[in-house]
Amino acid sequence: MSSHVSAPDLSPLLTAIPAPDAENITLRVDRSAERALRKRHPWLFEDGIREQQREGRAGDHAVIFDRNRNFLAIGLYDPGSSIRVRILHAGKPTPVDADFFRKRFRKLAALREPLIKKGTDGYRLINGENEGMPGFTLDRYADSLVLKLYTPAWLPHLSLLIPLLLEVQPAERLVLRLSREVMQRKDELFGLSDGTILCGPELAGPVLFRENGLTFECDPLRGQKTGFFLDQRENRERVGNLACGKEVLNVFSYTGGFSLYAARGGAKKVVSLDISKPALAAAERNFALNRAESQVRATKHEILLADAFKGLQELAEQKRRFDLVIIDPPSFAKKQSEVKNALAAYERLVRLGIRVLRSGGHLVMASCSARVSAEEFFNVVHDAAQKVGRPIDEVSRSGHAVDHPVGFPEGEYLKCLFGIVA
Ligand code: SAH
Repeated sequence: MSSHVSAPDLSPLLTAIPAPDAENITLRVDRSAERALRKRHPWLFEDGIREQQREGRAGDHAVIFDRNRNFLAIGLYDPGSSIRVRILHAGKPTPVDADFFRKRFRKLAALREPLIKKGTDGYRLINGENEGMPGFTLDRYADSLVLKLYTPAWLPHLSLLIPLLLEVQPAERLVLRLSREVMQRKDELFGLSDGTILCGPELAGPVLFRENGLTFECDPLRGQKTGFFLDQRENRERVGNLACGKEVLNVFSYTGGFSLYAARGGAKKVVSLDISKPALAAAERNFALNRAESQVRATKHEILLADAFKGLQELAEQKRRFDLVIIDPPSFAKKQSEVKNALAAYERLVRLGIRVLRSGGHLVMASCSARVSAEEFFNVVHDAAQKVGRPIDEVSRSGHAVDHPVGFPEGEYLKCLFGIVA
């Protein structure tokens, strides 16, 4: 890794953010919130609060006591969210100071070391609530770190945390990304916005990084998530292992992640289908970046700019057929009320995917909708296949890559089925 950025290089916007209140907010909670916190759930919802000694600002420390006034947990207060406190620590009272975070960052960095040894320098370093840093995810793409925040409560802490992070994880720059909810809270952002460089030089163009020895570009400023779908790394690797000699269709291809693994795995031909022109242009550049790999060079790559539902329909009508079809759509259910429609969309995609799949071909079907349970999703995939008389023999079910550990029920969003279709 290149140069270490020291504290003075932090964006002046950060250093101007007022410190959190020196005095903690104390809270008492009801029985069900107490139970959840004892089970190490990372969120205290506003309706679980019974008593609160004062109001506070986003980022103040909140200390939570049980009904007998015993310490339960400490976390970050956020008056603008129904998740009123995001828990940093539960159990025995512990000071939440520089040492606390340094230890946590060191531990999380050590867990990622095996990835680096496998030719990967694009990975998630901190997986939010699943790893004790609620609402705070940190990804690395080679020399750039990308911090994505889901609450403004972290902002007053960043001038302490970033130097600690860079001590453990040297990097050239750190980019800030904000969730849609946080972006809307403009008057709590102290002039920061989605894409602000928190330290280090501006970005002149996309960043190049390696994943299992393949090179990809990503745009940490504007790309989806933090620029790449790191959570699918292991599923991409599985696809690579299946692809030899095959004609492959990658639906919702984004910048061609699955496509490149298929190509390196020896696919004869790969079609990347997506509705986004810039994503497909990046997919083509990603193929060009990996031409040194003879298998990638030998694979014919075709891009198809289309809506997935229409595009699949058209491919079927043109009687195009594939041996391996990957369908990895965006989240279809952001709210509970959208789950039914999401399941119907998955069902349609499975039917359409099977129509263009040769008998005995592989279907890889994924869902990243946290609100759709694994059971609901896998059932709908099987039902859809049954209904068209092409049942699926399951090969495996899988989820997130190792750098996306799951620490609480809501953290388990990615589901993926590998199957052979009759
Ligand atoms: N499989 C990808 C990630 C997919 S993200 C990877 O491993 O990197 C979801 C993709 O779906 C995005 O690229 C988005 O542009 C695309 N998309 C969203 N709606 C679509 C639609 N109706 N038809 C086709 N693509 C769509």
